[in-house]
Amino acid sequence: MPRSIVVRAAGEHSAPGAPVNTAGIEDFPASDLGEGPVTVEVNYSSINYKDALVLTGRPGVVRTTPLIAGIDLVGTVVESSSPRWHRGQQVLANGAGMSETRHGGLGALARPPAEALVALPGELTARQAAALGTAGYTAALSVLRIAQAGVESSRDEPILVTGATGGVGSVAVMLLSALGHHVAALTGRVDEFSDYLIGLGAAQIVDRQELGTLGRPLQKQRWAGVVDTVGGTVLANALAQTRYQGTVTACGLAASTDLPATVMPFILRAVTLAGIDSVQAPYAARQAAWALLAERVDVGALEALTRTVALGEAVEASAQLLGGQSHGRIVVDVS
Ligand code: NDP
Repeated sequence: MPRSIVVRAAGEHSAPGAPVNTAGIEDFPASDLGEGPVTVEVNYSSINYKDALVLTGRPGVVRTTPLIAGIDLVGTVVESSSPRWHRGQQVLANGAGMSETRHGGLGALARPPAEALVALPGELTARQAAALGTAGYTAALSVLRIAQAGVESSRDEPILVTGATGGVGSVAVMLLSALGHHVAALTGRVDEFSDYLIGLGAAQIVDRQELGTLGRPLQKQRWAGVVDTVGGTVLANALAQTRYQGTVTACGLAASTDLPATVMPFILRAVTLAGIDSVQAPYAARQAAWALLAERVDVGALEALTRTVALGEAVEASAQLLGGQSHGRIVVDVS
């Protein structure tokens, strides 16, 4: 039976504030993987913010138990009744309900939703694709949205990336810089990670504290565009500092789900706030994002920001990620 990280309900008697679920390694029967035309032998998964919530038993992501965790997978097709996919093909899948309503990628076998499958781009190894994972793919969706808006940056008006040392932020800095943009990286860990961010291509480092206190509804115009991964006061201030007709993408809530903003940037500066969702993104968007990653990511830099853990180390790595003791990307070797 395939070894998997299985999430189970913690039980009715768990104390208030205690984890609502448990996550542990089990031999999970292949017959219980659910319906689907394509079965994949998983080589790698990864730990995103959402995975970290799931693996530490937090509420809000897992909708049904028992459930194999993991919103990402990269592996090889071992069975297919779909004309699009054949045995031996290397594929990847992200989101699409995995680890929420259906079994995910933190197990040796998976039956991901066919609409989420993308062929592994030839430029990337399986491990590199897992290193990018949902974080990289979401960064790419954000960067494509900025490109679609025709945002042009300069030294005086760069593109701001918030939560820059995180998975989404790190890849966004890398991609924007590879596309020739001037990138300002906002981080709460300036002393520790400025060199890291400059290595990824950031031209400026901004201390999170600079945007940490809610300012006026319209502030000095500083950013041509923004890739926000944190929400809250940082996003509200970033909107208020975005230049006329700039575009701000919002994908994350690492700081807060709140948005204590006003409509002023929208109605007086024609700023666009663009939502980014990776989970239900259609196939064309997935493919475009992975094509951008394959074309533009510096795989050497990607390797440098990635560490690999075994299936048995994934829960501990998740606690570190949520505790702010992590940066870059964490690959899980499932094989
Ligand atoms: P990480 O944990 O890897 O990175 C988050 C980063 O946010 C941290 O590294 C830190 O960066 C910063 N941060 C953490 N806490 C705070 C805080 N209290 N205030 C401000 N900044 C903070 O997560 P990911 O990069 O994987 O994901 C980022 C966000 O994007 C998450 O909220 C995640 O749920 C969301 N997401 C959404 C997706 C979608 O489809 N919409 C898909 C993927 C992710 P630093 O120390 O540099 O400031």
